[in-house]
This record gives sequence, structure tokens and C-alpha cells, in this order.
Amino acid sequence: MKNNKGVAAALPAHFVLSPIDGRLVLEEGARRVPKLDMKSMSLAEIEAALAGLGQPPFRARQVFRWLHRRAVCDFGEMTDLPADLRARLRAEADPACAAVVRRQEAPKDGTVKLLLRFGDGETVEAVLLRYRFGHTVCISTQAGCRMGCVFCASTVGGLARNLTAGEMVEEVLAANRELRLRTGDPEARVSRVVLMGIGEPLENYEAVVAFLRLIHDPAGLAMSYRHVTLSTCGLVPEIRRLAGEGLPITLAVSLHAPNDELRDRLMPVNRRYPLRELLPACAEYGERTGRRVTFEYALIEGVNDAPELARELARLLKGMLGHVNLIPLNPSGRGLGGSPPERVEAFRAALERAGIAVTVRRELGTGIDAACGQLRRRSESSGRGLPAAVAGRVQE
Ligand code: SAH
Repeated sequence: MKNNKGVAAALPAHFVLSPIDGRLVLEEGARRVPKLDMKSMSLAEIEAALAGLGQPPFRARQVFRWLHRRAVCDFGEMTDLPADLRARLRAEADPACAAVVRRQEAPKDGTVKLLLRFGDGETVEAVLLRYRFGHTVCISTQAGCRMGCVFCASTVGGLARNLTAGEMVEEVLAANRELRLRTGDPEARVSRVVLMGIGEPLENYEAVVAFLRLIHDPAGLAMSYRHVTLSTCGLVPEIRRLAGEGLPITLAVSLHAPNDELRDRLMPVNRRYPLRELLPACAEYGERTGRRVTFEYALIEGVNDAPELARELARLLKGMLGHVNLIPLNPSGRGLGGSPPERVEAFRAALERAGIAVTVRRELGTGIDAACGQLRRRSESSGRGLPAAVAGRVQE
């Protein structure tokens, strides 16, 4: 940021200098001024921006802590900053906070799905999963998705836009606020993050990597990379790029089929990056990071759940550093159903007999449209109000 001091006084009425690039822009009220997206900025970037305002480096650390740790949504609340700096940040920077516009709580397991709305009106879902050993948030990385998987609700309306790194941080903070509200513990926070909500994280690569570094920063949420899982439909170049970032996060790859013929039909991305390209990229990820890759396999009744497909999957994955996570498909209103428990068990057993490490994901959130994108879809297509048929406690 340029040093604007002194110049501001000479500006024509209704004009201000953009906090982003120092260009002359219309003042808020006259037109929307692009505000500085501070929550997406690293500590070093905030330091540089504040240095431009003549502020010492420790101020950046204070702002970073307020934004990331104390999760404030108003620069005016940053009480250890000088009043003029607070006022300036309030006018020129955006805390990128989201409003919770819907809440759905699963009656049995306490899973809470939040529909969050950002400043421009776009909505995404974040899901708080509460476990005895710690809490997890499942976040979205894009508003909508353009990957086109036939079983997934997130992709139905296409991609609206990418989320910023700060908006992804805000999803984690929203989960922490929710947890604090529910437990009464002002220190309560999630210890794990999974990038398995709406969107394809590797299509929003830069913002996602910036987000991962932000939540890892010791001045902020200080989350361990080992407690982060990123799920992708299989963008091969980005998997290889991620392997070189030096971020020891877990990679989950949505496989859902053991051959190209079936995977082409379920996931259009497979026509671009077929299995013969995807699996070597996964192997490279495992080798370079030392992390076991998770292969997700949603069992769709009568489509991909035959025991012979389990054997074919075992042959495909033989020798890979990884394991298979089976998930009975969550009906997403697209005409496909989840496999019944006995089919799931038969598939699991066939994999295990073939020597493949396999787990069956415990279903959480049943009854609250837990399939990715369902709540967002519902709110977009029906405007206000959820249908009475939706199970689970709904709070406004
Ligand atoms: N785009 C990424 C991450 C988002 S989806 C990806 O494709 O991996 C997270 C996981 O949920 C993926 O494995 C996805 O295939 C799966 N999924 C999507 N719809 C589902 C449904 N209706 N039931 C169960 N899993 C589903």
C-alpha cells in the first residue's frame, strides 16, 4: 500500500485512494470502494501494508491476532490499536465476516450445518462435526462447483465464484463461534479442518494454499497441517503442484469407480484426467509428503457397489500408499441412492480380503441435507424458508 498521508487532503470530493493499489476511486456511498481484504493477507503482507501507514511491525501481529484468533468482525473492536488506525482500517479494510443465515442441527449426533452469507450475497455451507476427541469443520472452497459429478448437489447450479482465503478462514471462525455458543466455553475451537464442502479446492489453488498457510500461522489459529484434509475430484497438475508445497496435509481423492468407463460417467473430470494419469499423481503425492492418500468411494446402489468392482479397485490400488474410505451415498435428490448396509459390508470385505486398507465412514449429519451443496441449493431455489419435511432442528 502506498503512503496516502498528506495526499488524501488534496483529493477531490468523493474520491479516495484505493487501499489495494493506490489508484483514485470513488468514495463509499458514491460507489462501492474495493476494501482491503485483510483476512486473506499473511502476517508479512499486513506488516507491509501497515508500514505504508507508518505503523510498526507489532501492529500487524495485533491485527492478525484480532482477525484470526479473536475472530472480531469490526476493526473498531481492536482495542489495543490507536483510535486513528482503528478508524482508518474500519473505512478501508474488510473483515470478511459472514452472516449465519440458516442453521440445521442433526438430532442425533449434534452435527451442525451452517449456511453462511458473505458481503456480496453469495452463500456457502460449513459443517461443524463434534467428536469426543475433538471437533472438525468441513469447509467450502467455492460458491458452487463446475466439476459436474452426477451424484453431487453442489454442482447443479454451476460455479458462482471462488472463495477468498479470508472467507475460508471465516468458515473456520464461524464454526468456532458456533462451538463457543453451544458449549459456553470461550476457548472452544475446532482442531481439524476438512476441505470437503462445496467446490473443488484445487480449482481455487492459490486461495486454498494461502488459506492453509493462514490457519497454520502461530500468530493465528496455529492449526497443524496434519489435522487438515483436502479432498479433490482429481485435478492432476494441481495434485503434483501441491505435493511440492511442503504442506504435510492429507490428500483425499474422490475415486468412486475402479475403471475409466464407469468413472467417465460419474465424474466428467475423468475424461480430462483418466485413472492412468491420476494414480501416478497420487503415488507422487504420497512419496513426496510421506502421507497416506485417502481414496474416497461413495457407494451408489446398483451403480458402483458390485463385489467385482471391489476386486477391480483392489487391483488398481495394489501397492499404493493409501487406503479406501467407503461412504454410502447421501441421496442428493439426483435420482441415485446409497447402498444398503449389507452391500457396503460386502464391498468392504472384498477389499479387505484383497489386502486393501479400508474404512467405512461413520455417517454424521443424516437428516440435515448433509450431502454437499444441498442446503445452499435449497435456499437458492426456494428463497426463504426450509420445507417442513427437512428433518433436524432448524434455527433461524
Ligand atoms: N470437489 C472435491 C471436494 C468436495 S466433495 C471432491 O470432489 O473431492 C467431498 C466428497 O463428497 C467427495 O468425495 C465427493 O465425491 C463426495 N460427495 C459428493 N456428493 C456426495 C453424496 N451425495 N454422497 C456422498 N458423498 C458425496
